[in-house]
Amino acid sequence: MKIDLRSDTVTKPSKEMLECMLNAPVGDDVFGEDPTVNELEKYAAEIFGKEAALFCSSGTQTNQIAINVHVTPGGEVICHKESHVYKYEGGGIARNSGASVRLLDGNRGRISAEDVKNWINPEHDVHFPLTQLISVEDTANRGGGAIYNFDEIKRLSELSKSLKIPLHLDGARVFNALVETEIDYKSYASQFDSISICLSKGLGAPVGSLLLGNKSFIRKAHRVRKVFGGGMRQAGIIAAGGLYALKNNVNRLKLDHQNAKELEKTLLNCDWVETVIPVETNIVVTILKNAEKRDQIIEKLNSENILIMPFGPGMLRMVTHLDVNSNDIDRVCNVLKKITI
Ligand SMILES: *Cc1c(COP(=O)(O)O)cnc(C)c1O
Repeated sequence: MKIDLRSDTVTKPSKEMLECMLNAPVGDDVFGEDPTVNELEKYAAEIFGKEAALFCSSGTQTNQIAINVHVTPGGEVICHKESHVYKYEGGGIARNSGASVRLLDGNRGRISAEDVKNWINPEHDVHFPLTQLISVEDTANRGGGAIYNFDEIKRLSELSKSLKIPLHLDGARVFNALVETEIDYKSYASQFDSISICLSKGLGAPVGSLLLGNKSFIRKAHRVRKVFGGGMRQAGIIAAGGLYALKNNVNRLKLDHQNAKELEKTLLNCDWVETVIPVETNIVVTILKNAEKRDQIIEKLNSENILIMPFGPGMLRMVTHLDVNSNDIDRVCNVLKKITI
C-alpha cells in the first residue's frame, strides 16, 4: 500500500461518506433547487455565523470569485508573496479580475497589520492603483501550516474596517487552525468580509469549497460563479460528501497534527536534514543540508511506496491527512531513519 503524503487533497471518500452521497436528495442547483447544496450552504454559514454561503467546485474558484467581487480592474490586492491566491491560481488575480498585487514578505506565509498599513496606496495620488482587498491565508501553506495569531487577525480586521478595504480569508485549511487554537468559529469568522473554506483538503470530501459572507456579497458571488462557469446542476451528490466531512471530520484533524509532529521529531534526528519548519498543524516542511539531494530523497521514499513532494529548492513537503494513520507514520519514520546520503 502506498502512503501518500504529497497533499491532504489525495484522500478518498470513506464508505460512510459515499453512502451519504448515494442517498442525497438532489435537484438543479442553478435553479437553487438542490436540497443538499442548500443544506450544506446553510450549515456552513451557520457554524461560522455568516449570513450566507455559496458552494463552489474548488478553493481556487472561491478565492477568485471573492477577489472578483471585491476589486475592480486596475485595483490592488495585498497579500503574502507566497500566498495561494497569487502563486498557485494561474495568475487569476490579473486574468480574471484585471487587478494588480502588492506582495508582502511577511513571516511564514502570514502578513501583519503593521506591514499592510505601510503598503496601502494613498487614495489621493493617481500614480498608485487603489488598494481594494487584503487577503490572508490561515493556515499558511508556504509557511509550513503556520497559524495566525488571533490578535494579529483582529488588528488586520480593525485596519480593514478603518480603511473600508475588505478582508478576505483563504481558509483552505482553516479547520486545521481552529482545532488547534480552539477559537470560537463565529468570533474568528466575524473578523472577515469573506471566507473560503475547502472541503476537499483535510476534511476528506472528494470535491468542493464554500464561500461565506453577507447576503449582498454572496448574491454578487453567485453571479460571478455563473460567469466563471461554476454553476453546477445536481451538485448535491458532491455537496453530501462535503456535509458529511464538515459534520464528522473536523475534530480528528488533531490526529493529523500529532502525526505531523512525529514526522518532525524523526526528521530533526536525520543527519541529512538542516531543519524542519516548526510544525503547527498538518504540514511538514523539511529543509535539506544539501539541496542537490532533494530528488534522490524523494526517489528513495518512492521506492518504499511513500510519496512526498518537492517544495522549492532544497525543500520537501509532507502533509498528513485522514488516509494516513499512525502505523503508516511509524513506517515512514523507519524509512526516513534508514536514509543515508
Ligand atoms: C488547496 C488550496 C486552495 C484551493 O485549491 P483548489 O485545489 O483549487 O481547491 C486555496 N488555498 C490554499 C492555501 C490551498 O492550500
